[in-house]
Amino acid sequence: MPVTVSYDSDGKLSLSGLQCDCPCEHHQLDMDIYVGRGLIGRVPELIRRRGLGDHCVLVADDNTYRVAGADVEKALVKNGFSVSPCVIHRQGDMLPDDGACGEVLLSITRDTQFLIAVGSGSVTDTTRINAERTGLKFVSVGTAPSMDGYISAVAPLLHRGVKIQRPAKCPDIVICDLDVLATAPMEMIASGVGDVLGKYIAKADWQIGNIINGEPYCPVCAGLTANAVNALVEHVDEIAAKTEKGMRILIEALLLAGVTIGIIDNTRAVASIEHNIAQYWEMILVQQGVRPPMHGASVGVATLLVWPLYERFAREDLTALDLESIKARRMSREARERWMVRAFGEEGGRLIMRENPGDFLSWEEQERRIHAAQTHMEQIREVIAQLPPLATVERVMRTLNADMTPQQENIPQDLLCLSMWCGKDYRTRYTLLKTIDECGLLPAYLQAYPCDFA
Ligand SMILES: [Zn+2]
Ligand SMILES: [Zn+2]
Repeated sequence: MPVTVSYDSDGKLSLSGLQCDCPCEHHQLDMDIYVGRGLIGRVPELIRRRGLGDHCVLVADDNTYRVAGADVEKALVKNGFSVSPCVIHRQGDMLPDDGACGEVLLSITRDTQFLIAVGSGSVTDTTRINAERTGLKFVSVGTAPSMDGYISAVAPLLHRGVKIQRPAKCPDIVICDLDVLATAPMEMIASGVGDVLGKYIAKADWQIGNIINGEPYCPVCAGLTANAVNALVEHVDEIAAKTEKGMRILIEALLLAGVTIGIIDNTRAVASIEHNIAQYWEMILVQQGVRPPMHGASVGVATLLVWPLYERFAREDLTALDLESIKARRMSREARERWMVRAFGEEGGRLIMRENPGDFLSWEEQERRIHAAQTHMEQIREVIAQLPPLATVERVMRTLNADMTPQQENIPQDLLCLSMWCGKDYRTRYTLLKTIDECGLLPAYLQAYPCDFA
């Protein structure tokens, strides 16, 4: 049965057809999701329905407080809630760093019963980690359809300048007012679209992980995100015009990505190599004190960068591989350690290696994977053939005036080259770039991205 999305008269989203007998453990989602017009004034009522209590800390930054936070606060106070505002003031962009997380923590008192984040990525993640650590209930009011992290059990954060991911709390209630979303600047909307377009690659990599390593694959979750990204591609003009329908399609795609994270308790359906590359840019630029491009905008550009590698691999003849030569060219464990430290820094590189101990393969395992790729090449080709033509994705991004190249995003050439080589090493999660590397083909595929170490 295909998954269907519907809304009741309150704008509450429900899903049917989630029954699945895949090997992934499925979790029941216990969360109220509202999408509709005029919802800001109804926030108090929607919170009362779930009985989260009366005392809250409202988290926003200067911008999101102005756009919606002040109105949410007013509505809550009028309806008898006690609200402690935690508006995080910054000169430039607010980041989900130690300082911001600390400000939220210190705004929480023993009376606090729930946290309410009014904002997009940074505000929501900063609040989410605090909800996780304090065990408080958590409401997310979205202000921009700019990223897919509203419903997420993971918070990307900046800890001592290093980008980290931490398990964090999924909101109990998510409220997305379409009128508020439509006020978001086009740059943020394009970023949301970029984030969704990356799902094509995420799905392909998940299927390839299933083929090569027998990784558990959930067709329901993959189907949810695939339908959402296809709808987005089809209705890009509505999105560009910020119509009610366009905003709904975009936020739905972003929320459903999160729903899959809730169902299988990981981000497999929504993030793969394109996210690794984008996150790498962000991490290094932040370390250098440079303002990184928006998350989804980078994901969109990284998606365009890796796409041709997939198309090329589909034309590859793996029967011609010379295993002895691949074995001879393998990186030793010591060389790999040096490479990880070079790519991710002393602290970051060692942390990634600690958290992904299986990432240095024995030759036996590498050989097994090569044979698996050779044996199942036809299946891998079918997976890649499901991708739409690259021109379709490019057209979508052009319609929204999105960044198309790393140069437009001011990614320095050396950072770009390094990211193309090390994106696959960010975590164990299997991606076609790992297949290409394990088959000894990476230098040929990344010729346009010279890197002195590789
Ligand atoms: Zn994302
Ligand atoms: Zn499943």
